[in-house]
Amino acid sequence: MKKRRSSEVSETRILDLKGQTLGELALIYPNDYSLAVANLGFNRVFEIFSKRGFKVYRFVYKTAEGRLQSLDGPRRIEDIKLWLLSLHFELDLLNVAKIFSRMRLPLRPEWRTHRHPVTVVGGALTYFMSPTLLDIFDAVYVGELEPNVEELTRTIFNSSGHGRDRLMGSLAEVPGVLVKSKLYRDEGFLCKDEGATTFARSVFLSKNGAFGYRFLLEVERGCKRACRFCVVGHRMTPARYADLQWVLEELRKGLCFTDKIGLVGPTVVDHPEVETIAEYLYARDIDVSFSSMRADRLNEVVVRALAKRQRGFTIAPEGGSQKVRNFLGKGLNESHILNAMRLGAQHGLRKLKMYFIYGTPVEGEEDLEEIAKLAREAKKLYSEVCVSLTPLIPKPGTPLEGLKMLDMKELKRRERFLRRRLWEEGTHPKFESLKRSMLQYRISNAREGELLSILEEKMRGENNGGANTQF
Ligand code: SF4
Repeated sequence: MKKRRSSEVSETRILDLKGQTLGELALIYPNDYSLAVANLGFNRVFEIFSKRGFKVYRFVYKTAEGRLQSLDGPRRIEDIKLWLLSLHFELDLLNVAKIFSRMRLPLRPEWRTHRHPVTVVGGALTYFMSPTLLDIFDAVYVGELEPNVEELTRTIFNSSGHGRDRLMGSLAEVPGVLVKSKLYRDEGFLCKDEGATTFARSVFLSKNGAFGYRFLLEVERGCKRACRFCVVGHRMTPARYADLQWVLEELRKGLCFTDKIGLVGPTVVDHPEVETIAEYLYARDIDVSFSSMRADRLNEVVVRALAKRQRGFTIAPEGGSQKVRNFLGKGLNESHILNAMRLGAQHGLRKLKMYFIYGTPVEGEEDLEEIAKLAREAKKLYSEVCVSLTPLIPKPGTPLEGLKMLDMKELKRRERFLRRRLWEEGTHPKFESLKRSMLQYRISNAREGELLSILEEKMRGENNGGANTQF
């Protein structure tokens, strides 16, 4: 264990590192430290390469200052020949463009020379945007890292010091790696259930993290549901669940550092042993949070554990009416939602947050009104009700692929209606910015070549005083 404090971050590393002699690489998270340290993918990649003998230098992007921040000492990123980028959100690609610009790395891979590093991107976006990402990255690692990590680390080690072309050529031979010269669309290797899937946990703890000084543990990977709007349910399959003994062992380790635990997964309450895990934490008076709770899977044991130290919880009905929920394939009905509300209130929870999607092609005003109605029911039971609303953004790789997002004028009209009605019900509506949502839609649905155009357009706007960067 190593504690590190600087003027910028204070963190505890809970991983022993020995003999990092195989080479060095930069691991970049293109957003702020608070998000990076709370991202288990970022933690996992650090752990995997560090344990295999690489010196991994982490960098995050300070959005307020527009600069890279080094987390592991004074090593200059310009001197590191291999950059791995951990990319999970479409709009973070704008930060990637800014990082490249600041580091004088051409956005177009074909303009790069032997002086430039090789950039490899991995993360959630690779599940549905792989070929497009080659617009700006030299290589894309598609899907989960674990199945091919031995081959990948061997390739990096054997190629280090031999220049950019050799590394690019070798990477192209690694299963799961996509490069322009090997552009194919067989993405059957996205996830592998080999019966030995290993899961991620926090490697660093920091009070600066998005969830505070909380030990995060991945207990589920993939999702067995198949909500029609969700990439996870369609591309990150099959669902796999961490072995109970492993979970308990990791919890014991994490509890040596903190009494705050976060259980992470697309639908944590689907874990077949979730009640045993919840009871274990309840008995020890632990502050536990769940990254996701399906209303139809909540039960006494889980809510009791949550309510021991938390004041509120979150559910995602997604649709206000059954018609919209059916369109979204959410698999919930109104009684699931009302039961979940009652259960939380019975255990003393005082705050409820609900996620909704609006702007579906099937909805009319009466369906939006149903959102207000659910908010009213919630308000009878909770002192604080927050309603978070996002417009429908159809994504590739889902059954909604190809569906057009509603236009701005219509979305604004629906937003105005919902905002008024939800205020009238005494709740706090929080709307995702429509400009940002539209941009997310454009990026996630970009074809090869279009991503580059979008980012160049945004960078030109930035250089012209930000006139084009209001997203
Ligand atoms: S929305 Fe949630 S439950 Fe539905 S497929 Fe996605 S992760 Fe699973």
